[in-house]
Amino acid sequence: MSLISKDFRHKPQQSQPHSHIRLRWALLAIACAGIGAVIASTNSETDSNDPIASDSLPSFKAVTKSSEQLARESFTLSLPELQARQEILDDANDLMPKQWREFKVKSGDNLARLFKRAKIKPQQLDEMMKLGEDVKTLTRIFPKDIIRVLSDDEGTLQALRYDIDHQSYLMVEREHGTLVATTYNHQIETRQASASGIIDSSLFLAAQDAGISQNIIMELANVFGWDIDFALDIRKDDTFTVLYEQLFRNGEKISDGDILAAEFINNGKTYRAVRYTNPQTNVTEYFTPDGKSMRKAFLRSPVNFARISSRFTTSRYHPVLHKVRSHKGVDYAAKRGTPIYAAGDGKVIFKGKKGGYGKVMILQHGSKYTTLYAHLKTYNRKLRKGSKVKQGQTIAYVGSSGLATGPHLHYEFRVNGTHRNPLTVKLPESKPVPKRYMADFDLTTTPVFAQLDLLARSQQVAFADIETNN
Ligand SMILES: [Zn+2]
Repeated sequence: MSLISKDFRHKPQQSQPHSHIRLRWALLAIACAGIGAVIASTNSETDSNDPIASDSLPSFKAVTKSSEQLARESFTLSLPELQARQEILDDANDLMPKQWREFKVKSGDNLARLFKRAKIKPQQLDEMMKLGEDVKTLTRIFPKDIIRVLSDDEGTLQALRYDIDHQSYLMVEREHGTLVATTYNHQIETRQASASGIIDSSLFLAAQDAGISQNIIMELANVFGWDIDFALDIRKDDTFTVLYEQLFRNGEKISDGDILAAEFINNGKTYRAVRYTNPQTNVTEYFTPDGKSMRKAFLRSPVNFARISSRFTTSRYHPVLHKVRSHKGVDYAAKRGTPIYAAGDGKVIFKGKKGGYGKVMILQHGSKYTTLYAHLKTYNRKLRKGSKVKQGQTIAYVGSSGLATGPHLHYEFRVNGTHRNPLTVKLPESKPVPKRYMADFDLTTTPVFAQLDLLARSQQVAFADIETNN
């Protein structure tokens, strides 16, 4: 630890361009120009073939890129690829061949130990850690991090590379005998991807079959969650198409981004949504093609992926009390501990026990509406009587407190104090795209819907083919 807690007062002048480094990277870049071109032209429709395997003649497009850009692009090479590039560089510069080596940080490790394993002289670490802000990141390395080093036979550090995060990496290089540290930012590229599915039993399974990640499935359920009750409304042969973003770093996928547009055909009815950012407020929301908000003032159901076990009725046999009683709510059977969401924006007006209801929370929404959640396992600990809640916020967890045969949520919806059926009550809608932005909305979303149309239609043909072939 003493080695990495040195002070950083001796920050070297780094304002001059590292012409030598740039030249080296430029050489390296030209050597792999073909790869740069392949990466630049890859889009989401073509899957990432191994760029090494393709013809790597330098192309005009790649050579016109700045050497820095190319340095970034070439960073995510595997170790053997990196070594191959180094050989080309060493050859071009008439140098003794050098080898990059890779070290994985172990638990309880520090740079001093890692340098020892790499047989690099300890003074080299001292020299490197005096390079200022850039190298500070090396004081926060974690197990499984990869550090790559280039050193000579005398144990002198020639170069060190470290991936800081998805966005950036550190490069330390010896230039005219002196170490220089630079932090580079990767270029994060957004690409479009799409997927379609046909439901056999559940949205989850169909989406998994379509190769959609869990995050996108959850977002899809959230986008349509105001119109479609994913516990009750899903039918066999429902279809969905989703157009979404994927984030790439140097041609390599890092994560999924946001849903741009989606279509869900539920029981023959088509629902469509598009993502749009209000130019004035900068708030991003999902809207219908005619600019109505997908967000209603209330969620149709306050739990996701649950099963309706009992409906709203005026007379029903009570399984625990063994007598006929009305059931003025809906029961959602779900696993114990499943999060329960606030059905709408509002505030907590009751939190506590209520006889057979067990642990209960009641929310007030505006002046007319209240929602009640019963048989809770636990509450969201941060919520008190009077706390404000946002629609979709987790307020409690499914349990079986009070008189309950098994874990479920008993949910009630009241309008002006009268119990209403939460499954059929007409829910108020939230704000549409403001009139003065409708032209902008149409301009930006028309091409997205056109794309969605095309995808949905081609998928329908594909699904029809599957049907006829079976
Ligand atoms: Zn109930």
